[in-house]
Amino acid sequence: MADSGKGRILQFAPFQSSVDEGFWHKLSSLKLNKLRLDESPIPITGFYAPCSHPQVSNHLTLLAESLPAESDEEQSSLLASQGNRNRCPVPSILLNTNTLESFYALDKQSLLKAEAKKVWDDIYSGKVEEDGSVLLRFLVISFADLKKWSFHYWFAFPALVLDPPATLVNLKPALQCFTSEEAESLSRACNEWRSKSSTADIPFFLVTISSNSSVTLRNIRELEACQNNGQKVIFGFYDPCHLPNNPGWPLRNYLAYICSRWGLGKIHFFCYRENRGFADLGLSLVGEAEISLSQGGNHENMPNVVGWELNKGKKVPRCISLAKSMDPTRLAVSAADLNLKLMRWRTLPSLNLEILAVTKCLLLGAGTLGCQVARMLMAWGVRKITLVDSGKVSMSNPIRQSLYALDDCLNGGKFKAVAAVESLKRIFPAVEAEGVVMAIPMPGHSVSSQEESSILQDCRHLCDLINSHDAIFLLTDTRESRWLPSLLCASANKITITAALGFDSFLVMRHGAGPAGSIQNSQPETLNNVSAGMVNLSLSSQNDSQRLGCYFCNDVVAPIDSTANRTLDQQCTVTRPGLAPIASALAVELMVGVLHHPSGINAKAEFANSNDNGCTEQPLGILPHQIRGSLSQFSQMTLVGHASTCCTACCSTVVSEYLTKGMDFILQAINHPTYLEDLTGLTELMKSAGSYTLDWDNDSENDDNDDDCVEI
Ligand SMILES: [Zn+2]
Repeated sequence: MADSGKGRILQFAPFQSSVDEGFWHKLSSLKLNKLRLDESPIPITGFYAPCSHPQVSNHLTLLAESLPAESDEEQSSLLASQGNRNRCPVPSILLNTNTLESFYALDKQSLLKAEAKKVWDDIYSGKVEEDGSVLLRFLVISFADLKKWSFHYWFAFPALVLDPPATLVNLKPALQCFTSEEAESLSRACNEWRSKSSTADIPFFLVTISSNSSVTLRNIRELEACQNNGQKVIFGFYDPCHLPNNPGWPLRNYLAYICSRWGLGKIHFFCYRENRGFADLGLSLVGEAEISLSQGGNHENMPNVVGWELNKGKKVPRCISLAKSMDPTRLAVSAADLNLKLMRWRTLPSLNLEILAVTKCLLLGAGTLGCQVARMLMAWGVRKITLVDSGKVSMSNPIRQSLYALDDCLNGGKFKAVAAVESLKRIFPAVEAEGVVMAIPMPGHSVSSQEESSILQDCRHLCDLINSHDAIFLLTDTRESRWLPSLLCASANKITITAALGFDSFLVMRHGAGPAGSIQNSQPETLNNVSAGMVNLSLSSQNDSQRLGCYFCNDVVAPIDSTANRTLDQQCTVTRPGLAPIASALAVELMVGVLHHPSGINAKAEFANSNDNGCTEQPLGILPHQIRGSLSQFSQMTLVGHASTCCTACCSTVVSEYLTKGMDFILQAINHPTYLEDLTGLTELMKSAGSYTLDWDNDSENDDNDDDCVEI
């Protein structure tokens, strides 16, 4: 039975906090993407509702929606939840520190006072009449350890301490305080108040009872009008507490408000509680409190404040770890993003992780280079990777080809394209990787008429793959297998990166834009595109020399079958083991540079220390055209080579011939070794013994160094 409580000091059940996991996820994302090192207070919204169970108090809850929106869409979803009867919004601030040390070093007493001061000021300014929830204002301090996924936090619900404290005249279940007509009318009025979207989430209200037992619930701003009418007023509030002898925490500041603002010393209050969503006057309490009026009405003297939430009876913060409860894939994604996002905090604020995440990368070749490039791409946050390779994993591969293990070699070996994708997904389950088992058609490897249709099918497939990706890596181990992709990339104007290895030297380069740079994804079969392409080609053919070259631009010989008549050591890629990882890493860094450069694929070649020559350095540094490195010299240099007007892969003659004739052109090139040379005038050129020009970054460099890069 409830104790009527006469004469005792009024004691309140503290608010209990509860934090939804979604809140921590959202805070982590906000911290990483938006706030970064910013420690300024974050306005947040807590939610609470009246007690709705005879044995359980309601908590003040933080949800994902409690935090400010990262986008406009989220903002509108928060607005849509207004008027929700189970989510009365309560304003708050969150102080999230950057370190655990600064979390513990926060001056909690003055923080609490500062929040209470806001409540106190709102009482005197009349703000409470506009929005009663400001009386419930609270404060959260936190430290989010994003590496371990643990969160330290502490809630404070500032309560103004009346001195002397309020005493109880009586406190009883509401049912015992009204006639049955009044009780019925009160229940009805409460249920109505709670079901209207305009009032459902307003936690403070007035209850007036007319002489004919009819009960009305009113907004607290109508208090003066009620008093003038001489009506008996009961101060109602949504009580989160279930205890039969104690009102909940919201009554504390409510009483302070009533006595300070309205000078009332005897206050009737109504602790509104529900059961199964409806007013329950057996659970709800009605009480009368007496307050010494000497303390009211003085804005200058703010009362003392209490309110830091206890943790199991102790004054210590709480800590929650989400690492175990998180889905491993999700954990992997957030952990993978962490390092990249941290780069944005200080070193590279302009790092565009969004573009990296959506860039579709096509890797032609899943050998030593392909494996390593795929891993580097994932490290940079690239999530869409397609690997093309026709080979199977052999026993000699796993040692150098970092995506394979012995298991992949058994029973004849898995296809590399398949095994590589499995491996990528094992390393990072969220990667969107695809494998395509396909050989890349090569010029000079003539085909019989029976093979022709399957070769053409491969050509079309390759063309589709290139058109549907954004960046293409040429990572095969023969020169001629790079020709068709180079041509298709030049035609489609795609970012193209080549990495090629000699024994102890490498070449990594980005191809320049295609001759018809303005045609995107041109399809040779489409008549309109062809004619549009022709116009552009005729315009740009004179400009070939200003474009950056492709892998074949420096050649005077068209690609031919380089694997014929070779011994085993010449057929296999025999290189120093450190070479492929270095070249692969540079290839990926180069692509990241292109994606971040304002001119993208059209960016001019930049050299080391060239920023004083008019090049504007980007946050990621310079964007070279070619990088040649030598392990025997432990040296690396940046070079530029412009597009050649007789390049067999990217000159306007070849590209326009391809755009006009399509697959017929490719078949000709595959079957007739000199077709490309004749077409581009290379045959003529060789007769006149002309040579290409190469711009070195340093004029004093010995030109012989160029020969270090031996193609296999
Ligand atoms: Zn070229």
